Amino acid sequence: MPLKDNLEEVLEEIEETRLHSLTGEKVNLIAVSKNHPVEKINELSQYGCLDFGENKVQEIVDKIPLSKDNINYHMIGNLQSNKVKYIYDKVVLIQSIDRLKLVEEINKRAKKDDIFVNILIQVNISKEEQKGGVNIEDTLKFLESCLDYKNVAIKGLMGIAANTKNQSEIRSSFRSLFKLKEDIINRNYENVSMDYLSMGMSGDYKIAIEEGSNMVRIGTKIFGKREY
Ligand SMILES: *Cc1c(COP(=O)(O)O)cnc(C)c1O
Repeated sequence: MPLKDNLEEVLEEIEETRLHSLTGEKVNLIAVSKNHPVEKINELSQYGCLDFGENKVQEIVDKIPLSKDNINYHMIGNLQSNKVKYIYDKVVLIQSIDRLKLVEEINKRAKKDDIFVNILIQVNISKEEQKGGVNIEDTLKFLESCLDYKNVAIKGLMGIAANTKNQSEIRSSFRSLFKLKEDIINRNYENVSMDYLSMGMSGDYKIAIEEGSNMVRIGTKIFGKREY
């Protein structure tokens, strides 16, 4: 199917699901373009899809000069601190922050430039170690340790559900992340916003929206299968 049709179908399903979601909030779509050519990104931008998720620093660096000016990139993959310098001021949101070393490195550079870098804290809701993320029970402590870094702006949480057919397991992991977000809001931390709860991918985004996600990261359903 053409990209335009895939996009429209996803947008319709997002809207339909939102109508019976926990919060009824508007849902932001991040099209996950990793391993797909920049031509497709530019094409999608013509249909109004402007936010793209990538998981490799090099791929972002390569794509940006070839991308239409109004396109926003989100870093959603595992980030090494020695590569922060290539992207911290080029992406709109770094969604995969799970170590203080990264926060330190981003803050150092952002402070020098006198800018703020927006991040999400990635929380490990699947209990699969390879997925990365802070353990859910350690998240408050981690967040509090980030507060000293004034040029890093915490904008919410990101989570990846387990790769399983067990829908109730997926649902309960999303639910636990939503609850954590509410808990953080109630604590009224200064300079912390919980604007974004980034959860849901091609296989589970409807469940995620029902459970209060307002940012879904969808690759396969828009672009088709990735060739590696
Ligand atoms: C690849 C990826 C996605 C998109 O996955 P699909 O199943 O293709 O929709 C979403 N989030 C992260 C963190 C990813 O790495």
